[in-house]
Amino acid sequence: MQNLIGNVNGNVTINIYSTPGAPIQGQMAPHREAGTEFAQEFAPEAKPLPERLVDEIRGKRQPWRPKKKKTIKLSKAMHELGQSKKANRVWWCSEELVFTECPETGKKKLRMANFCRERLCVMCNWRLSIKTFYQLSQVMDIAQEENPNLVPIFLTLTVTNCSGDDLPATLDMMFSGWARLTEHRRVRKAIKGWFRALEVTYNKEKDDYHPHFHALMVVDKSYFSTRGVYLHHEKENNEWAHIWRTSCRLDYDPVTDIRAVRNQHEGRNRKHVAEVAKYTVKDTDYIHEDEDLTVKIVNALGKALYRRRLFAYGGVLKEIAKRIKADREAEDLIHMDETSTMREDIANQLIIYKWDFGLADYFRTDTFNY
Ligand SMILES: [Zn+2]
Repeated sequence: MQNLIGNVNGNVTINIYSTPGAPIQGQMAPHREAGTEFAQEFAPEAKPLPERLVDEIRGKRQPWRPKKKKTIKLSKAMHELGQSKKANRVWWCSEELVFTECPETGKKKLRMANFCRERLCVMCNWRLSIKTFYQLSQVMDIAQEENPNLVPIFLTLTVTNCSGDDLPATLDMMFSGWARLTEHRRVRKAIKGWFRALEVTYNKEKDDYHPHFHALMVVDKSYFSTRGVYLHHEKENNEWAHIWRTSCRLDYDPVTDIRAVRNQHEGRNRKHVAEVAKYTVKDTDYIHEDEDLTVKIVNALGKALYRRRLFAYGGVLKEIAKRIKADREAEDLIHMDETSTMREDIANQLIIYKWDFGLADYFRTDTFNY
């Protein structure tokens, strides 16, 4: 197989590998197939293909490869938009990954990586969503440990869909709306703390955007039985929708969804937390096979999300988040669930995987014992 890929910098990478037992693959003319005698002739010194990266957490394959492939598509779109600096950063994002591996279980743990932290980077957003989930889970655990009477309620606050051009103004309106909502007399009376995250989805059929907030709010369990404190959300008397409408100064009734998790057990709580702390934008919404479409959406989202606070904490949850340094967008995208650490004393190897731009996968390139 020939891999002649020009990257953003105009460099060219050629890789000639063969898999043990498989037909030798090598450099060849474009019209020839890999594995033919022709290929063999031109690749007499083909070397065995190095080990591909397999990283599993609780039996689930971690999506390093698909995420990296999409960062490359994103980089190309940014390049098209003339954002060459950003495109370059995204292109090289997580090009090298350094893991330790438990010799007993073979489980890997990421130790080093060069994440680019660009707002739309597919790889960085994946890491950030996992990190935000763990941080919010931790904040909630501490909050409920310190005050067992706290109960979470989950809100989704939407506005009507808008065009890409109107997205920045719609987000301005929603962010001001959120600030007013949290300052609203009734909300202040009911809520002890909150976490909110922005999500923007894209509708391909209608070519419009659907921005909405996911929020987790904590209330005292007496909230549900105290008149004048409890905020109704029945269809015929939806106080939450009314407050959201007036806060955003809308001339229509916005769609809202409010759920209380009264019969709490950890699993269910976690599921809701995961829903609140998910991606701001799903890569499937903005990375398409159709390159022109990708360029268009990347342009609209890039402008609209520039310098926005994608998530924020308030009240008692903010105090805890500050205490554990989770109140800002995570800087560390390497260490995730540190509660399930492997025994460091038996992991004594650093294994380096590098992204191969031609073969489009991570391959083991080096190992260090320490
Ligand atoms: Zn990145």
